[in-house]
Amino acid sequence: MIIGIDLDDVLAQSLEAIIEYHNETYGSALHRNDFVSDKYWEVWGGTKKTATEKWYDFYQTDYFNRIKPRTDAQKILSQLDPEHELRIVTGRPTETTKITELWLKRHFSNNFLQLHFVNLFPKDGSSGGKKSNICLEHNIEIIIDDSLGNIFDCAPHVQKCFLMDMPWNQTSTLPKNTKRITDWHELSETLTINNNKNELWYDNRYEK
Ligand SMILES: [Mg+2]
Repeated sequence: MIIGIDLDDVLAQSLEAIIEYHNETYGSALHRNDFVSDKYWEVWGGTKKTATEKWYDFYQTDYFNRIKPRTDAQKILSQLDPEHELRIVTGRPTETTKITELWLKRHFSNNFLQLHFVNLFPKDGSSGGKKSNICLEHNIEIIIDDSLGNIFDCAPHVQKCFLMDMPWNQTSTLPKNTKRITDWHELSETLTINNNKNELWYDNRYEK
C-alpha cells in the first residue's frame, strides 16, 4: 500500500526540541502539556506571523538538527519498507529540504520513496499547501499525522488515517476512517502485515 507519513511529531520528537529551544532562547518554562493547540501562537502568545518567524529561526539552529526520532519508528518503518510504498508528507517548507534530507538519511537510511514538502506555513504568511493534494497526486491510501487539520483534510481522500496522539489533537470527533494511536508500537500492533499477499489488514477491534 501507499503510506504517507508525517515527519514532525510522528517520525520525529519535534515537540521536545521546540520546547527546549523556546525555553532556552526566550526564558519560558513550557511543558509538553501546555501545547493544547498546534497553532503555536495560541501557546506562545503573539501572532501567527511572529510564531511562524520563530519556527523559521528554529530551523536555523542545532536544536532543529538534533531532533530525535520517535521511539520504535525506525524499527517499524524498516519492517514496513519492503512491502509498502512509504512517502514522507511534511508540512515543513522547502527551505528545510537539505537539513531534512540529511536527517532522514541519518536516521532512516533509504526507507522512503519520496519526500514531499507541503509548506503549511509559508514565511510570508500566505496560505500554505494541503496534504490532501499530495494524497490525490500520489494515490496515498494511508496517512499518519498528528494534526487534526491534516487528518480532516486527508480523510475523505484516503482509506485510513492514523492520528498520533498529542496534547493538541484531543477531540471526541474524528473522521470515521481515523484511528488514534499513542505510539509506533501501537500502530504496529494495529496493522497486521500479511507478507504473502502483500496486503495490510486493519484490526477490527478498533473499527467503530
Ligand atoms: Mg506533525
